[in-house]
Amino acid sequence: MSIYLDYNASAPIDHRVLDYMIDVYKGAYGNADSRTHNFGDTSRKVVEKARADVAAILDIRKDEVFFTSGATESNNIVLQGLREYAEQTGKKHIITSSIEHKAILETAKYLQKEGFVVDFVNPDATGRISAKNVIRLVREDTLLVSIMHVNNETGIIQPVQEIGEYLNSKDVFFHVDATQSFGKLVDELKALKYDMLSMSAHKLAGPQGVGALILRKKRYKLPPVKNIMFGGPQEHGIRPGTIPVALVAGLGKACELAHAEYQENKKKCLSIKEIILQLLMDSGVKYHINGDINYSIPSTLNVCFDGVSSEALMLATKQYCGVSNGSACNSHSYAPSYVLVAMGLSEERIENSIRISWGAETDLNAVRVEFTNLLEYVRNIQ
Ligand code: PMP
Repeated sequence: MSIYLDYNASAPIDHRVLDYMIDVYKGAYGNADSRTHNFGDTSRKVVEKARADVAAILDIRKDEVFFTSGATESNNIVLQGLREYAEQTGKKHIITSSIEHKAILETAKYLQKEGFVVDFVNPDATGRISAKNVIRLVREDTLLVSIMHVNNETGIIQPVQEIGEYLNSKDVFFHVDATQSFGKLVDELKALKYDMLSMSAHKLAGPQGVGALILRKKRYKLPPVKNIMFGGPQEHGIRPGTIPVALVAGLGKACELAHAEYQENKKKCLSIKEIILQLLMDSGVKYHINGDINYSIPSTLNVCFDGVSSEALMLATKQYCGVSNGSACNSHSYAPSYVLVAMGLSEERIENSIRISWGAETDLNAVRVEFTNLLEYVRNIQ
C-alpha cells in the first residue's frame, strides 16, 4: 500500500475529530444564529466552544476569531477587506513575498491592477525572506505587510517574529498566513506579534472547507477589515453565511487536540524527518535538500534528485509513496514551482524536486520500507 506523504496539501482527518463531527451533525443541526428555539442554542454552544479552542491555541481572545471557509478566504478578506480603509487614508502600499500562497499573490496582483503598489520580496537560496529586506521597504503609505509563517512547498520558517516585533510599534498592519504552522509551531504563534492571521483546518487533521481569520484587537478595536461578501450578520458581518456548525466543531476539536499534543507530535514528526534524512544519506543517491534545513519544520522536506524528473519519479513510484512537486493548487500545470524559481534554483534542479510532508501518525516503518523503494528507483535511474 502506498504511503501518504503529502500532508501539506491536506492532512487526513483525525478520527477523534471525525467522531465528534458526526455527533454534532446528528445532535446540533439547528442554525447557530436561530434565536427562537433551543436547537439554535445547542448549535451556538458548539460554535462558541470551537471558537474558544481556536483562541486557546493562540492565546488570544475569543472575539478575535472569525470562522471562514479556509485560508484562501481568510487571505482574501485581509487584502480586499482593507480596501476601503486604504482608499480613505491613502495608504495603498502593500509588502508581501514572492513565495506566498496564490491566495495572497493573486489577490495582491488584483489590487495592483486597482491602483495599489505592491512589493514582492524574494527569498534567497535558503528559502528564507530576509526580515531586513521587508522592513527596509516600509514607508509612510504602507498599509499592510503580509508574510507567511511557513512555506507550503519547502517547509521553511520565515522571520515573522522579527518582522512582527518591528511592525508592532508602527502604523502598519501585519498579516501572517499561518496555514502550514498552525497547530505545529504552537509556542511560536502564541508569542508572535501580528494583527491578522489565516489558517485552514485540514492542514492540522481537521476537516476541509473550514478555517479562521484572526483579527487582533488594539485598544479594544478590531483592524478596519470589511466584509468582501454581502449577506447576513454572521461572524460580525465579516463573513456572512450560515455557520457550518459541524465543520467549525471539527476545527475546534483539531485545535484542542493539537494544543494538547503538539510537543509529542513535534517529536514524532522529527523522528520521521531523521529517518528520511538517514535513508537519503545511506542510499548513495545524488540529492540536494532545497532550502536551509535548519529552518525547516519537522514535517516537510523538499528534495532534488539529480537527473531524475519529478514527474517521472512520482509516476513510477506511485505504488510506494504519495508525494508532490509544487503545491496541489498548481499541480495540474507543469509550470515549474514559482517558490523554487524565486529561490534562484536552476530549471533542472526545480524539475527534479519533490515535496515530502507527513504528520505525527505517519507510520515510521512504512516510511522506511516505501521511501527505500522510492530511493531504489532513483538509484537505478542515476
Ligand atoms: N496558505 C498556505 C500557506 C497554504 O499552504 C494553503 C493551502 N495549500 C492555503 C493558504 C490555502 O488553504 P485552503 O486551500 O484550505 O483555502
